[in-house]
This record gives sequence, C-alpha cells and structure tokens, in this order.
Amino acid sequence: MAIATINPTTGETVKTFSPLEDREITTKLELAQQAFEQYRQTSFQQRSQWLQQAANILEQEKANFAKIMTLEMGKTLKSAIAEVEKCALVCRYYAENAPDFLADVTVKTDASHSFIKYQPLGIILAVMPWNFPFWQVFRFAAPALMAGNVGLLKHASNVPQCALAIEDIISRAGFPNGTFQTLLIGAAKVANLMADDRVKAATLTGSEPAGASLAAVSGQQIKKTVLELGGSDPFIVLESADLQLAVSTAVTARMINNGQSCIAAKRFIIAETIADQFEKMLLAKFQTLKVGDPFADDTDIGPLATPDIRQELDHQVKIARENGAKILTGGSVLADMPGNFYSPTIITDIPLNHPIAKEEFFGPVALLFRVANIDAAIKLANDTPFGLGASAWTNNESEKKRLIQEIEAGAIFINSMVKSDPRLPFGGIKRSGYGRELSIQGIHEFVNIKTVWVK
Ligand code: NDP
Repeated sequence: MAIATINPTTGETVKTFSPLEDREITTKLELAQQAFEQYRQTSFQQRSQWLQQAANILEQEKANFAKIMTLEMGKTLKSAIAEVEKCALVCRYYAENAPDFLADVTVKTDASHSFIKYQPLGIILAVMPWNFPFWQVFRFAAPALMAGNVGLLKHASNVPQCALAIEDIISRAGFPNGTFQTLLIGAAKVANLMADDRVKAATLTGSEPAGASLAAVSGQQIKKTVLELGGSDPFIVLESADLQLAVSTAVTARMINNGQSCIAAKRFIIAETIADQFEKMLLAKFQTLKVGDPFADDTDIGPLATPDIRQELDHQVKIARENGAKILTGGSVLADMPGNFYSPTIITDIPLNHPIAKEEFFGPVALLFRVANIDAAIKLANDTPFGLGASAWTNNESEKKRLIQEIEAGAIFINSMVKSDPRLPFGGIKRSGYGRELSIQGIHEFVNIKTVWVK
C-alpha cells in the first residue's frame, strides 16, 4: 500500500510520502539504541514531566490534530477531538501512576532481602492501525516511555500525517531525540526490523493476518509481542433490561468510529420476548442517522477509511444475503456520494451455521439474532473465534452473575457498552489476541520483571 493521505470523503489523494530507504531505517534504529542508553537513566519525575507536557500539547492543539485524523481516515471531527482528549488523559494517567506501578516490590523469602524490580527492555516496535490513529499510539507510548523504553512507530500507510504529528508532539514535549520515532515504511519491512537484535519486542493492533505474521517472525526471534486484533463482540439484551437505554446504547456501540472499532458491538443477541420491539426501535434509530461529511457538526457517520474496507464490508453483506439473511435497512454502498460511504445496515435471519454469522463486520452493519433464553444467548455469544469484549443487558442479578462468569471475552460490561479506560486492562482472548494494554497490567508487558535475591 502506498504511504499517502487519501481523503476518504472525496477519494482525492492529498499527499504522498516516500517510504524510508533501508539506510534511513538503519540510521533511525541506531539513533533509537543510542537514545535508550541515555533515556533509561532518566528519573520517573523527569519522564513524568515530559509526558504531562505531551498532554498539554494534545489539549492545546486538539482541533488541529483532530482535523488531520478526519482528513486521513474519515472519523467525525467531534469524535476525533474526543480522541485527542483521551490521549491527554492516558498520558496524565501514566505520568501520575507509573512510579507506583514500577516501584520495587519486596517479597519475604529466605533471603535477607528479596524483591521484584522492573526494568526497561529497550526499543519496542509499535505496528498500529488507522482506526484510532492517535489513541492506539498513545496508549502504547505513554506506558512504554514511562517504563524507560524507547519507541519506533510503524503506523498504517493511510495515516502518515497522524504518525508524523505524534512524533512531533513527543519531541516538542521534551523527550530526548530518538526516544520516539515514526518510520514511514510499508508492512513488508516489519519482519526485518523484528530480526534486528536492537528491537526487543513489539505490539500490534490490527487484523488477524497482520498479527499472525508479526507473531510468527517474533516467535522465530524469541521476542515478546502483544496483539490486539479483531472482535465480533456480542451485545446481549435480556427481558429485564432497560430497553430504551439498551437500544440507544446499541446504536452508539455499533456506529462508533463509523463502525470501525474492534470493540464495537457487532452481534446483537436479543431475547425473543422483546426482539420485535428491539428490532423496531433499532430500525427507527438507524433510519435517522445522518451519513455525510465528517467535518460537519450534525454528521453521525462519515465514510469508511479506505475503498478496500468498504468493498470487504459490502462483500460480507452480499454473502449474508445470498445465504438467506434479510436486510432490514441499508445493505449497499452509497454510490451517489463520492468517497467510501456505506449505508447504516441491519441484517436479520442470518444462518447460524454459516461462517458469516461469526465474522467481524468492520463498518456500520448490525447483525441481529433472536434467542429463547440466557443459555442460548451465552452459547451464541461465545460461538465466534474472537473474544475481545461483550456487553450484556439485564436487571436480573443471577443472570448478571452467569454472564460475568460464562462469557468468553477479555472484558464484559453489564448494562453499558464496551469502552476502554486507562484504569482498566484492555485486550482479548482467542483470536482477538493476547496481552493487555492500559492499567498496571499494560505497563508490565514491556519490562524485565527482575527477581532480586540478596543473602
Ligand atoms: P491491517 O491489520 O492490515 O493493518 C494494521 C497495521 O498492520 C498497519 O500498520 C499495517 O501496515 C500493518 N500490517 C499489515 N500487514 C502486516 C504484516 N504482514 N506484518 C506487519 N504489519 C502488517 O488492517 P487493515 O487496515 O488492512 O484492515 C483490515 C481489517 O483488519 C479490518 O477490516 C478489521 O477487521 C481489522 N482491523 C482491526 C483493527 C482493530 O482495532 N483491532 C484495526 C484495523 C483493522 P500497512 O497499513 O502499511 O499495511
């Protein structure tokens, strides 16, 4: 894929970038390694000041950063501004809490003194996607930098200006030269980078094939990875739920980021006693959603990020239709608009034995299923290769307990949509990946957890 800004609202190529030559990559690697030798000696207090300054820059210039995101990948401007604010939040969270998370932990043993010490690993490679082009990077960078690591960012090829802006923010915040660098490179260069001794570990957010490919080369090199891949999150609504709230949240949970979020609700699993009502209410809401210019204040849904994403989504909808599913609304590309627009879509009567019922739909498409009872709801919710998040709606205490216990996912949210929060770990099981980001667990992924034993 060419490294370029292509406006998804119009299809216009705004700017193209030359990928780095091999010798330029080597120079940046050398710089990163030199930077690490110095940077690892800096104090928490110093790192924390730099990270707070990064948060200040994000807050002060949020309108500019948001515009770059909307231009490059089509999210609504208001959601882009909220994303920048959340990046500032995660910077402040780790600036304040990392010293505690990484403090020595004394453990009583037969030694005169034994304890756990957390030390940085070195250069960490971040392979990041376009869907939350600032947030995904900052949720990696904030803990990694506080831990004393240095970062190399290989961002998605369609968000180069976001990638460069993030490097610039971290540099202007005061972090030493080379602590965090953007590499404008294609995916084909990642394997060589992982093979370099100086690169110690990697994190990737994106598709299953990308994750599997990075994990394979990292496995060869015995290097740690954290993978945050796709999801086909269930959104279960049982009879005792607050239906109004469940429906309005369902719309937000499905349409967030124009439908392109790993933790978006994708499979709506509804108790059959309330399914007609849920369907009617959801349909009414979908039909009032405004699709259009993501820069406009009143737009609910902007374009999909790339023509490929839209083509893949449309293909999945066609497969569902050909196999007997019913399209309640939408179900087509919006061909009369330039750019990558797709109509908000609801699909019902999906054949459960067809793989399409378990796939991730990365766009504004909701799959609706009806179930007889909680047993059937849990069985269907778990019947997917993924296990990222799950949202479940009920006011029955014993049902809540069963859902918390039996749903196979990295997170379950009861009577709320799934969302990330710097204070809580984030990540999946099954084919959604492994490892955790955010919270204390996130900062412990890329450190040497050293055992110290003194007689
Ligand atoms: P990709 O997984 O292809 O892209 C994510 C990142 O991985 C990009 O930086 C990409 O680089 C890089 N990458 C791709 N292939 C490799 C590889 N073999 N080795 C190393 N790095 C690689 O996602 P797409 O943009 O193609 O989206 C496809 C699908 O992925 C979506 O429809 C969705 O299902 C899923 N996805 C999930 C996301 C999530 O948040 N979990 C985010 C984005 C996508 P480059 O851009 O240069 O190809």
